[in-house]
Amino acid sequence: MPIWILRDFSKCSSCKLCEIACSLKHEGVVWPEASRIRIYELIPGLPVISTCVQCDDYPCVSSCPFQALSTGEHGQVLVDENKCTLCGTCVYACPGKIPRIVRGKLGVIICDLCNGEPECVKICGEMGYHALQLVNKPDGEIVKNYLVSPEDASLKLLAKAIGEE
Ligand code: SF4
Ligand code: SF4
Ligand code: SF4
Repeated sequence: MPIWILRDFSKCSSCKLCEIACSLKHEGVVWPEASRIRIYELIPGLPVISTCVQCDDYPCVSSCPFQALSTGEHGQVLVDENKCTLCGTCVYACPGKIPRIVRGKLGVIICDLCNGEPECVKICGEMGYHALQLVNKPDGEIVKNYLVSPEDASLKLLAKAIGEE
């Protein structure tokens, strides 16, 4: 059964400990830029949690001209750094612009769900926020709700905050 990270923007404190936990897990150092989850606060007080939503059709995977992307048993996207040329095709293919190219990294960056034990979910829970929760992957329509760029997600939150949605 594929797993998924349910994200509740309203519970996010913007502490960014998830970014620290993710970079420590994958890079061995505190390196928020290389975190597979990012917290954007483009509008003060309205944090947006951005990480891969594991699209049903994985447009990033099919777009890669070098077969550097594949999917794992939990539904996560896997990056083969030996094949990735950092061409950026997957970044444009992703409707949420989730894959990121980071200076100093040999391959594009996408959440791999920590192979089933997400560190970001763990630290968020331990800190008492519970903005991230590990669930079974919901159906495609729910997933699509989260497949928006941080800019569009911020504007949607603002519209809601001022009662226009
Ligand atoms: S950036 Fe890497 S993973 Fe993405 S399409 Fe190019 S080669 Fe493939
Ligand atoms: S959200 Fe983006 S990175 Fe994740 S599976 Fe979909 S296209 Fe790929
Ligand atoms: S599940 Fe793991 S890889 Fe994905 S964002 Fe969280 S800490 Fe990073």
